[in-house]
Amino acid sequence: MPNPPRFETLAIHAGQPPDSATGAVMTPIYQTSTYVQVAVGQHKGYEYSRTGNPTRRALEDCLAALEGGRFGLAFSSGMAAIDTVLRLVASGEHVVAGDDVYGGTFRLFDKVLKGYGIEFNYADTADLDAVHSALRPNTRLIWVETPTNPYLNLCDLRALADMARAHASRPWLGVDNTFATPYLQQPLALGADIVAHSTTKYLGGHSDVVGGAVVVNDEAISERLHFLQNAIGAVPGPMDCWLVLRGIKTLPLRMDRHGENAMIVAQFLADHPNVERVMYPGLPDHPQHALATRQMRNYGGMISFVVKGDEAAARRVVESTKIFQLAESLGGIESLIELPAAMTHASVAGSALAVEPALIRLSVGLEHKDDLIDDLRRAIG
Ligand SMILES: *Cc1c(COP(=O)(O)O)cnc(C)c1O
Repeated sequence: MPNPPRFETLAIHAGQPPDSATGAVMTPIYQTSTYVQVAVGQHKGYEYSRTGNPTRRALEDCLAALEGGRFGLAFSSGMAAIDTVLRLVASGEHVVAGDDVYGGTFRLFDKVLKGYGIEFNYADTADLDAVHSALRPNTRLIWVETPTNPYLNLCDLRALADMARAHASRPWLGVDNTFATPYLQQPLALGADIVAHSTTKYLGGHSDVVGGAVVVNDEAISERLHFLQNAIGAVPGPMDCWLVLRGIKTLPLRMDRHGENAMIVAQFLADHPNVERVMYPGLPDHPQHALATRQMRNYGGMISFVVKGDEAAARRVVESTKIFQLAESLGGIESLIELPAAMTHASVAGSALAVEPALIRLSVGLEHKDDLIDDLRRAIG
């Protein structure tokens, strides 16, 4: 491989040399729980598949390469990845999280981990002063998403990393990079300590697998995470790892087209008389448009918008599109539409993180742009 290989080349080859046993060009699905030992303790690096599996290793090495990090770990879901990261935080320590993080992340923090003595508070991470005043002497972790879900707000990763480094407790900056993917932005290069993913979304890319990942550069953090990964055991099976590896091979192509289609859809919505507000970082009136241009390769495939009228009007729209299918999740080749307040974000209903009832979220897929526009035009009227 040329040195250093570029992203598109890494997406196809990183961590995936031809199989040493057979020469298979595609990484085999090592569907085995255990590995023979020729004498006690003498083996080829694998003892038991919770601890390590060659198909999983290929995925972990590939993810690390794509994020420009040294160590990758794969998990059975995005939530399992985030939960394992949070085990780095001890009871009595404090976490500052973004105030519109993924609903499942908020549920994990507020309904599970708070009960084990970890302190949380939530700040608007687009506002550096708000994050700074949320820091405490016992803050161990700052947890952010950019762009956020479903409001598509951005935060300045380099500025947050500098803030974390300058603070007395030296908290880690952890970034859930699910929405952007490493093709659009690489948080470790901007100074973050930990990157997490739901590989269920763009990395897998085909809505056929649930998975998660963590990438770090620091050896001590990596060792602790590997210990936790094995101790907790929320690991993905080899078939699921293979599906994510297969998805990743086309990540750059898919992300380019997701971004192109989403820009066209966002402009259509912004010009539509029945649409009140569009949230898309690629639109010039987005509050962090300049940051998005600087921090991301393109503006991604996610759009949120509010139609004129009430929640019933929004429900009519999400129930009448034909190509945009009404479903949770995002990041697949197919376009999806949903009502976050009643679906993906139902778990934050009634909390400070609640989402307005008429907000509609789109995951813009890879169908022909004109078909997507026709579908929305029919549904919105
Ligand atoms: C989906 C998602 C998660 C959770 O991942 P799962 O694979 O569903 O467990 C976490 N963060 C973000 C931003 C997500 O979109």
